[in-house]
Amino acid sequence: MTNQHPLSRRHFLAGMGASALAIPTLTNAFGQPIQSEAGQPGRKLGVALVGLGSYSKNQLAPALQQTKNCRLAGIVTGTPSKAEEWMKKYDIPKANVYDYKNFEQIADNKDIDVIYVVLPNSMHEEFVVRAAQAGKHVICEKPMAITPKACQNMIDACKKAGKQLAIGYRLHYEPFTQEVMRLGQQKVFGPIKFMESSDGFRIGDPTQWRMKKSMAGGGPLMDVGIYAIQGARYVTGEEPLSVTAQFSPKTEPQKFKDVEETLFWQFQFPSGAVCNSSTSYTAGVERLYASCQDGWFELSPAFGYGPLKGRTSKGPIEKPIVNHQASHMDGVCKDLLDGKQLPAHITGEEGIRDVRLLQAIYRAAETGRKIDLKA
Ligand code: NAD
Repeated sequence: MTNQHPLSRRHFLAGMGASALAIPTLTNAFGQPIQSEAGQPGRKLGVALVGLGSYSKNQLAPALQQTKNCRLAGIVTGTPSKAEEWMKKYDIPKANVYDYKNFEQIADNKDIDVIYVVLPNSMHEEFVVRAAQAGKHVICEKPMAITPKACQNMIDACKKAGKQLAIGYRLHYEPFTQEVMRLGQQKVFGPIKFMESSDGFRIGDPTQWRMKKSMAGGGPLMDVGIYAIQGARYVTGEEPLSVTAQFSPKTEPQKFKDVEETLFWQFQFPSGAVCNSSTSYTAGVERLYASCQDGWFELSPAFGYGPLKGRTSKGPIEKPIVNHQASHMDGVCKDLLDGKQLPAHITGEEGIRDVRLLQAIYRAAETGRKIDLKA
């Protein structure tokens, strides 16, 4: 891990299309050029959603009715009754409907350019690899996978296929979040001394996959704690040097047999900034706060679907309120349409960094030791 942060202002502005940086020609692992969709004005990329659970149903499909650069073109589901319902609701032709077994046939479907994997965390690897092998660009939900090895396989498969891989980091395209990235990375209130970055909620159904370590990779840390990690990294623009962590005692041990209930951790950054974080499936918390030499800023709520709300020591943060999912998919698809390399802060390289940190936090909590992240 290096101290050159992928969310640095340079990467960030490049990602927002705010500079006229020269974009290198894309090539795959074999040096062959990647085809772009450039030169087809007005074309919207066709997106197929894999897994029609709550995030697809309540967030992504409605957002795809608002997007400018992409549209809902297909679905991949293991539940035939859902297929019928979605075909009717979103006018999806039968030819664009797949199940988990015949998924490979999507390779021949010219209507579908991007496959968006929205399955339980342990299934991301298999479906991203299969999507790449079918010759499609891929968006994969967070956390990218449950191990760094799985993440690496996904990165390699996309490279080999000459296709791009984005992670569902919707907040990178959200104006309040972009503003706190700017305030922190540009040291608008001076160097950051101390941060709090926490995300948790009270979970319902104890039988769901999120409560099974084999499917989720862990508990709230994997699910929403990852937002707190992201917050600390994109506000400081730095990679943490070390981490300490503590599991809280379980207050509902019957419910939390397989995964943690609440977890605290502390990152130290090269600039001297420290960040204290918590995540929980038993208590709600959603705050990103930075105390700097000459003032402070915060978002609260900071990580949910919005509207987010922000303040600084000089007054409120005023920004437009956007649909996070539509902005994210439009941003990713704009770069794909233009034949540009996706910005580093949204790709698999960013996803694997977070998964390494998730594992380091668990290791710190399990051993009670400070984990050196420089190695
Ligand atoms: P969900 O439980 O609502 O849906 C999961 C889907 O996977 C369902 O359609 C289910 O039928 C299908 N599935 C296939 N095989 C399964 C199996 N063996 N066990 C369980 N389900 C199986 O979950 P969700 O909330 O839609 O989450 C899906 C992914 O999206 C997760 O990786 C999650 O972290 C991510 N997510 C991201 C955000 C965000 O804001 N970016 C928000 C919510 C969820």
